[in-house]
Amino acid sequence: MKFDRIVLRYGDLTMKGRNRKVFEDKMLKSVKRAMKPFPEVTYWRTYGRMHVLLNGTEHGPVMDRLKDLFGIVSLSPVITVPSELSAIQAAALEIMESLPKIPATFKVNAKRGWKAFPHGSHEMNHLVGGHILPRYENMKVDVHHPELELRVDIQEEATHLYWETIPASGGFPYGTSGKAMLLLSGGIDSPVAGWLALRKGLELEAVHFHSFPFTSEQATDKVKTLTRRLSYYSGVPIRLHLVPFTELQTRIAHSNQENLTITLMRRAMLRITEQLAANVKANGIVTGESLGQVASQTLSSMNVIGRVANLPMIKPLITMDKQEIIEIARKIDTYETSILPFEDCCTLFLPKSPSTNPNLRVVERVESSIEDYDQLIQQAVEGTETVLLSYNEQREVQSQDEEDWF
Ligand code: ATP
Ligand code: MG
Repeated sequence: MKFDRIVLRYGDLTMKGRNRKVFEDKMLKSVKRAMKPFPEVTYWRTYGRMHVLLNGTEHGPVMDRLKDLFGIVSLSPVITVPSELSAIQAAALEIMESLPKIPATFKVNAKRGWKAFPHGSHEMNHLVGGHILPRYENMKVDVHHPELELRVDIQEEATHLYWETIPASGGFPYGTSGKAMLLLSGGIDSPVAGWLALRKGLELEAVHFHSFPFTSEQATDKVKTLTRRLSYYSGVPIRLHLVPFTELQTRIAHSNQENLTITLMRRAMLRITEQLAANVKANGIVTGESLGQVASQTLSSMNVIGRVANLPMIKPLITMDKQEIIEIARKIDTYETSILPFEDCCTLFLPKSPSTNPNLRVVERVESSIEDYDQLIQQAVEGTETVLLSYNEQREVQSQDEEDWF
């Protein structure tokens, strides 16, 4: 008994009209992109669902890939037979025989979508259940909490049988919510924030500030690995902007306001990111900040830091506990990379007692006392190198045209 298709359920119930159409089109695009390694599969769309027809492809690897795509609520591997009673009964029996373990209780849940089929839903529950039951002495029917619920969906063109509904990632398909810049540090939090932003349908470009040669090549490689990992979830290559931050950081560190160093660095990062965002037409900035986690993430610090940003700041982790963030990091497989011990540009210049309550006027005064501050920001923007990274390639993608290759 072989699965011939996988049914994807994706309809967010609140989505209607034109939005639904956009959602479903993007969903199909996203699924097709992810299914490139499986050239045999084809697609069939129906209201709020999509059938991925396997055409002989093993279902396991296809399921594994689809589970990680955004926009899909749940998945079921399906067996399809002609809409005839004897064929349905035979398939139901074969399914039971193929199970690794016979359940103690079961129930058949038939739905007659094709009204010309000679047996009603209720009658079908009995006809199929009654066909199976006598063959398994210890198995009983339980209509309320069965261990196994065999669904039988009778349509004119065929009948679909399935018994597993596997939860998927949920959210919106890639690119349904516009584009934002992700501040990606190489720590535990920002990749998780990136994953959550992708889940909401945002297209992302990552920005990383490095202080080469104070920070090593490995630190940048780590951020590249994380970007590649995120591109597995988006299904498309992601651009990573590598910003040279050494000069600005050194100047800030020498401004003799040690406790404000982090505040000043974060403001500079946001100023640079806003310019990069304008260049690529992004409409928001995503960070991995979580309230109260460190000095720069008190509400008061965020207030002073955020003043320089005109774009909306998206902080998916803002109310999460570290443990919850770590759980997601493990689930999405970024944790092991994030904990590699390469220094970040900010930890390197970390003051002994960073201010948890910086004063905006003092901060602004220090900034205006830094010689050529605006030029330094400009130089960092101009010196930024951009690489396009994809999960299925170790090499860097060289040009925009190559994006179509994926
Ligand atoms: P993370 O685990 O994401 O590094 P964190 O808890 O260490 O977060 P901070 O180091 O204070 O917190 O950074 C807060 C946020 O600022 C990060 O989540 C990230 O979005 C951004 N950020 C920090 N350092 C960098 C960097 N070098 N490049 C890009 N973004 C950064
Ligand atoms: Mg950090």
